[in-house]
Amino acid sequence: MPDQTCQADHCDSRAGFSHAAARLSHDPATGHPRPPRREFKARGSFVERCPGCNLPALNCLCPYQARAESEARVWLITHPLEHLKPTNTGRLIRDVLPGTEVFTWYRTVPDARLLELLEDPDLVPFVIFPDDQPDYADRVVDIQAVSEVKVSGRTPVFILLDGTWRQARRIFRKSPYLDALPVLPLSTTRQTRYQLRKPASRAHLCTAEVAVELLRQSGDVDAAQVLDDYFDTFNVSYAASRRYEKIEVSTPAMLRLVARRTG
Ligand SMILES: [Zn+2]
Repeated sequence: MPDQTCQADHCDSRAGFSHAAARLSHDPATGHPRPPRREFKARGSFVERCPGCNLPALNCLCPYQARAESEARVWLITHPLEHLKPTNTGRLIRDVLPGTEVFTWYRTVPDARLLELLEDPDLVPFVIFPDDQPDYADRVVDIQAVSEVKVSGRTPVFILLDGTWRQARRIFRKSPYLDALPVLPLSTTRQTRYQLRKPASRAHLCTAEVAVELLRQSGDVDAAQVLDDYFDTFNVSYAASRRYEKIEVSTPAMLRLVARRTG
């Protein structure tokens, strides 16, 4: 029987499947792929992880966990698939800013606590989303609107839609409780430093980077710096662990975080 290249997603001989096994995973009657008989293992699932921060234990994040105060708050509406990913950066925001709320998005069942918080007259939420479509142009505001909320004595809230670009767009379009809220597009020249996923463009920032820029631009400079340092440390540590490298020399961001914790 001639050797064949298997086209099914789960048939990857580099992942340890032999070609014989790959052929057996197809139904000989129909040629359709059968479900994989081995349990699918995501990349990195064999790595020993720290129970505190869930990063590979080789370069753990726990010694750098620092807290900060901010005037503005952050709420994350996180796609259910995003929660499971250890490369998710939304959770870094909650580590640094304890007032951060994290809601899981389900299309048909809005989070009851989120709906309750949206009714709080002291909180003024902004949905962070690009202003590239005309149908909600009347809801678009700029960062100045955040300052005006602070002057009025109320608390601005940045609602970040945490997921892939496609998931975020779906959350934006399919959540009626967001439809009345102002839309704040992030305007920045920052390019992403995120190393753990391949961005479509350097202009696409990850969730933690978006929060850093919003906090910085709206005057929460200290919180922005701590979160940026914590993101940087996460990014560098995780990337080094993927290369099986132990970080021996602290980065400037690591040194600042340690000084903050001890000082
Ligand atoms: Zn840890």
